[in-house]
Formats: sequence, C-alpha cells, structure tokens
Amino acid sequence: MSSIRKRVLVTGGAGFLGSHLGERLLSEGADVLCVDNYFTGRKDNVAHLLANPRFEAMRHDVCFPLYVEVDEIYNLACPASPIHYQFDPVQTTKTSVSGAINMLGLAKRLRAKIFQASTSEVYGDPSVHPQREEYRGNVNAIGPRACYDEGKRCAETLFFDYHRQHRLRIRVARIFNTYGPRMHPNDGRVVSNFIVQALKGEPITLYGDGTQTRAFCYVDDLIDGFVRLMAAPDEVTGPINLGNPVETTVAELAAKIIALTGSRSPIVRRPLPVDDPVQRCPDIDRAKTLLAWQPKIPLDQGLAKTIAYFDKLLTEQRQEPPATVKQLA
Ligand code: NAD
Ligand code: UDP
Repeated sequence: MSSIRKRVLVTGGAGFLGSHLGERLLSEGADVLCVDNYFTGRKDNVAHLLANPRFEAMRHDVCFPLYVEVDEIYNLACPASPIHYQFDPVQTTKTSVSGAINMLGLAKRLRAKIFQASTSEVYGDPSVHPQREEYRGNVNAIGPRACYDEGKRCAETLFFDYHRQHRLRIRVARIFNTYGPRMHPNDGRVVSNFIVQALKGEPITLYGDGTQTRAFCYVDDLIDGFVRLMAAPDEVTGPINLGNPVETTVAELAAKIIALTGSRSPIVRRPLPVDDPVQRCPDIDRAKTLLAWQPKIPLDQGLAKTIAYFDKLLTEQRQEPPATVKQLA
C-alpha cells in the first residue's frame, strides 16, 4: 500500500548540501531516506535529524545497486571539493557514472522522479561568460579535474538518455559554488579555507593572483532552487543553472572574510592549481523564468552566518579533551 507521505531518497544525504536538503524535505512533511558512504559526509551533519521518525540514515555506496521503495530521488552522492574528488579520481568517476546508472535504474523500476546534482564544472574553464545552459563547455578531458567534470558530464548524458529511452522524469541542476554551515572545515574549498584560516589567525592562502572569479550562493537559496525544480512540471528537465550571479574575485572574497572576522591573518600567495577556471558566473535567466527562483541572501549576510557556524565549531573542537583523556574518562 502506498503511503500518503512522499518518500524521498537523498544520496549523499550526510554531506553539506544533502543534510540541508534532508532538513528542508522533513520540514515539508516528507519521509527522508539518507544514503551515504560517509566518504566526505559526516554523521554529525544529520545527528540532529536522527530522532525524527520520518528520517532514516543508511550506509551505502551508490556504486552498488540499491533496492528501496521511494517516490523521488535526489542524487547528490559525489565528493565535491577539488582536494576530495582528486584524492581517488577513479572512485570519483565511478561514483558519478556507476552511481548515476544505479540511481537511474532504481528510478526506472519505481517510475520515480529523479534529480541530478550536476555542476558548473561541466563548463570547464569557460570561454563564454556568464555561462548559459546552451554553452557546451571547455573541459580538459585528461587533466586532474576531469574525473569530476567528465564524470558529471557523463551522468548528464545518462540522465537524458534514460529520459528519451525510458521516458524517465528527470531534473538536472547545474550547481555553481555554494557555501554555508556544515561545509567540511578541511575540504579545501575557498570559503571554508578562508574562514577557518581567518578565525585561527593563520595565513589566508590565495591561489594565483586572486583575480579568478566565482559566484557564491548561500545554501538555503540553493536548496530552495532544488525543491522548486523537483516540483516543476515534467517538461522542465533542465539542465538549469542554480547559483548566485554576483561575480566576486577570490582576492575580494579574502578581503571580505578578513573584514567580517576582524582577523589579523596575512594573505600568502600559493600557485594556481592546474586547470583552475579563470572566470565563472551563472546566467540564471532559465531558473528565473521556469522556477520563479533567484537567490535572496547577499554574500555578506551568508558569510556572517557561515563564520558564526565555524566559530562555534572551532570553539567546540578546542574544548574537546585529547583522545587519550577521552578514552580514560
Ligand atoms: P559533500 O562532499 O559535502 O557531499 C557529498 C556526499 O556524498 C558526502 O556525504 C559523501 O560522503 C557522499 N558520497 C560520496 N561518494 C559516495 C558514494 N560512492 N556513495 C554514497 N555516498 C557518497 O559535497 P556537497 O557540496 O554537499 O555536494 C553535493 C553534490 O552537489 C555533489 O554531487 C556535488 O558534485 C554537487 N555540487 C556541489 C557544489 C557546491 O558548491 N557545494 C557545486 C556544484 C555541484
Ligand atoms: N582558492 C584559493 N585559496 C584556497 C582555496 C581555493 O585561492 O585556499 C581558489 C581556487 O584556486 C579557485 C577558487 O578559490 O580559484 C574556488 O576554489 P574552490 O576549490 O572553492 O572551488 P572551485 O575551484 O571548484 O570553484
């Protein structure tokens, strides 16, 4: 017998975005099944949801088939930060490609709607600016970012082939840089790195000359975009850009974080990573028109919330007794 409540599977549900999505779906009355292999996600991210009888966490690697009964699937499982996805690049491609095949197979059996967390990285180091969905990208197929970029591009291909071949109801979002509470403090992404460095009084590591740009979206805005896309009519398959179209240089971001934290950290230069995109900013006309969506939270406000989160986290970590004392206690 089918339940009245919507049952939603979130793969990568214990990660940064997945944990916020789970919270949002629960608040809307859905049953949430969080599936994660905890590669970059943490149980702490969902600890506050475990007491909720409508939330269930399951350890599982999406590279293997999954047999569950749900109405909707959000496929977020994949390491997202360059240092994490380059740590085991073969596994990153497997997660994107085999993970997509397994989740699409599940959606096909269940006739469930399925959402793919794709990325602005499908545009590579873009030669068109800002990036519109029609732009086909400039990706280096053999570089160190390719495991992620090509994995996500292949996942998009699979989504559209399942849509055409099996009439699957798909939603593909191309997510641009997103930040907020529950980012992993050591994941190497620019917002978490700069905030943690500023709060600890350590040097702020600026890669290259800092003139490269990104556009930073606060997590609550992004999750609102996810939910709107999933709820949109079935002809709205995407791909659809979701991001905050306010372009900022990385050097400006460093200055902002230093000012907001009141930090005395110096800025140190480090080499620009290979294939690091020079310019990135979404054109979100499609999301505005089709989803009536656009970000509301300005960068300063989002950064203030994120700084408060990391400040609390670092204070708690400082107060934790050393492991040996903990074992004796
Ligand atoms: P994250 O690393 O915090 O979350 C990814 C989650 O997937 C983690 O919980 C991780 O343990 C899990 N995971 C990884 N491999 C898995 C596997 N084989 N099986 C099951 N679980 C697995 O990263 P995030 O920022 O929350 O990103 C979520 C999704 O959004 C990713 O697919 C990412 O590519 C996409 N995305 C994020 C951003 C961003 O700025 N945050 C931008 C573009 C795209
Ligand atoms: N970056 C930096 N210092 C850091 C981490 C990142 O200057 O400590 C730069 C990085 O070179 C890139 C930008 O910030 O130009 C965004 O990097 P991130 O890893 O957050 O995301 P992505 O490159 O995937 O957009």
